[in-house]
Amino acid sequence: LGGEPYVLGVDVGGTKVADGLDTPDGKVLENARAAMKVDGSAEEALQCVFNAIEQVFERSNGRRATSIGIASPGPLDPIRGVVLLAPNLPCWREFPLRDAIQDHYRIPTRLDNDANAAGLAEAAWGAGAGHRSVLYITIGTGIGTAIILNQHVYYGRTGAAGEGGHMTIDHRGEVRCGCGKHGCIEGLAAGPAIAALAKERLKQDPEQGGSLLRAINQSAGSVTEVIVNAAARREPIAEEIVQQVIEYLGIWIGSMIDLLEPDIIVVGGGVGARLAGWFDHLSECAAKWSINPRAREIRIVPAHYGADSGLAGSAALWYCQDKSASEAVRHPS
Ligand SMILES: [Zn+2]
Repeated sequence: LGGEPYVLGVDVGGTKVADGLDTPDGKVLENARAAMKVDGSAEEALQCVFNAIEQVFERSNGRRATSIGIASPGPLDPIRGVVLLAPNLPCWREFPLRDAIQDHYRIPTRLDNDANAAGLAEAAWGAGAGHRSVLYITIGTGIGTAIILNQHVYYGRTGAAGEGGHMTIDHRGEVRCGCGKHGCIEGLAAGPAIAALAKERLKQDPEQGGSLLRAINQSAGSVTEVIVNAAARREPIAEEIVQQVIEYLGIWIGSMIDLLEPDIIVVGGGVGARLAGWFDHLSECAAKWSINPRAREIRIVPAHYGADSGLAGSAALWYCQDKSASEAVRHPS
């Protein structure tokens, strides 16, 4: 084991930093985590990342990390390695996270948003392995997407491609997304949107909805969890709510199939995992909203990586891509 080089993968989140030494097949050897302080100064937050990295270095037993990969919530600029103004990371505005880490440790460092990183890991080692084109979707408190072609992230002209969560589904609707636009799929079908939709619907029908509302208020888990479990027990009102969410997602995915015709669609994230029992129905619905006569053949499958998708993804930035994001979008001048 001694001389082999490893990637130090770092997953920056709103409450913690997780990191580990990753092997070329996507396994994590040493795991560490440190608390993340997002409401202080940029320097304090950076120190949290250093703390997590030091822990892994201390335990590495002579195993060398020759590169560092970082997955962080967006929006961020993977070309310049800069965190822009991520809602989950108020500590960093236009913060050059990649260079701050690279300069500190003098180890080549790559930074990408968590959806791109996780999508790359799924395409290389996870549920999308063996496919040339993978559409990765993560559904949690927001909706993120990544387009992976031949095991490379599709970055677009400046690195801003793949923000599929902000495609408008209902421009006349009242729902306003966190990004400021009306009717984005994120504003309609991410965790908070499902919770709002459910509470609204349950209130309209106190007789049927009352017991579910109480279950939601008493549950330590998410609203989505309660609703999806009730739908699995075939409670009509819960089924109706999930059906509505699946319909929104189906309209959206149908359009993406028309645009991309990917080999496979991988769905991850906390809410995405809960909806896995509905993927067959989702595929049917997406086919209805697509003009592709073979849309139904495109499988929608649950992601392989759960909470550790950022750790695998940050390593995938090195193991799976032979170029950094800035090299990938560099235009001949
Ligand atoms: Zn939006």
